[in-house]
This record gives sequence, structure tokens and C-alpha cells, in this order.
Amino acid sequence: MLIETLAQAQPGRARSLRCELVAGQADFRRLGSIEGLRVDLRYAAANNFVGRNLYSGLDCAWLHREAAQGLEAAVAWLRQHHPGHTLLVLDALRPHRVQEALWQELAGTDLRQYLADPARGSIHSFGMAVDVALLDPQGAELDMGSGFDDFTLLSHPRLEQEHLAQGRLDQIHIANRLVLRQAMLDSGFTGIMSEWWHFQFGDMATVREHYLRIE
Ligand SMILES: [Zn+2]
Repeated sequence: MLIETLAQAQPGRARSLRCELVAGQADFRRLGSIEGLRVDLRYAAANNFVGRNLYSGLDCAWLHREAAQGLEAAVAWLRQHHPGHTLLVLDALRPHRVQEALWQELAGTDLRQYLADPARGSIHSFGMAVDVALLDPQGAELDMGSGFDDFTLLSHPRLEQEHLAQGRLDQIHIANRLVLRQAMLDSGFTGIMSEWWHFQFGDMATVREHYLRIE
């Protein structure tokens, strides 16, 4: 079956492709092909804020090749500036059906503010966003002062200086976050104001309009 018949063009919406077919798509690249990168997809086990495996049966260890190239550059940046340190991927490609399930799961809670409305779509579903932590030379996660998917103000990069001034974050937390941010931003990613772990690649409007969304 031809990919073209499955990646249907829909007016006003990005083209889409089922997650099960990503392996046959030249625009996507396996995370395992990035040397030195470590991967622990938190939604592929029960070790996440929802408490269950959201990816059961789905292979989500992929990114769009452009974001994958950026991530490869970030790993190289760390190798050069902080030898022994590397990135740990916590989430990468998140199929749209999982985004919808998460949205339903969080109905009626104020956690929805941390999730992209499926009606608009998440950049993760295009393989153009990644959630990452920093590993030290022993392979331990560096302390960022709040954990992955800790949906509190403590995770907001824009409030870091305020948290530091009021003793909620230490200098070491700020320093660790800066290293992560510098590695990612120097490699072409942009961050967001509310999550220290989330980075996206490219122009968001272009991605939403022209890139293949994974369902
Ligand atoms: Zn994210």
C-alpha cells in the first residue's frame, strides 16, 4: 500500500499518518540512531502522572528527522562543553490519539492548562517536540528542583529567578537548567515558559500547517 494513499491531505489541516506506519516514513528518524542519547519514554510505562502506560503497543521512540538532527547536535554540544553529560529523552513523538486520551483523562482538572488542546494539536504529534532531562557522567538525572511533569509553578522557567530569590530553588537547580537550555537552544530548539523539560523545533505555525501529524 502506498504511503500517499494513507497520508491524506485535508484542507485546513495537516496531513496525517497512523503511528503504526511511521517506520516506513523517510521524514522520521529513530531515537536509537542518535549516538550517546539515552531514552526512557515515561508514557510507555506506568511511571508518569497518569499512572498507566499510554503507549502500550505503540513504538514512539521517533522524532521528525529535523528535530532528531537538532537533538543529535545538542548531544554533541554537551559532549564538547560538559564531557560525560548527555540527554535523557522522556517523551518524543506522541501520537494524536494519545493526546486525545490525555485530554479526556484531565477533564475537569486544572492540569489541562499544561496540555495542548487536541483540537489545535500538540507539536509532539508531529515529532517536532521533545521532553528531555540531563544525565551526569554516572548516568544520574541532574536535579532541576522539580521533576518531569511536575505541573506546578516550580517548573516554570520564567519564574526561576523569583523561585531562587525566595529559596524555592537553589543555585544548582538554576545552573543545571541553564546547561540543558543552552544545549537545546544552541541546537535550534526553543523552550516554553511553563516546563523546563519541553523543547520544540522549527516554526510552530509552519509545523501545524504543513507537517505530517501522527495519529
Ligand atoms: Zn513536551
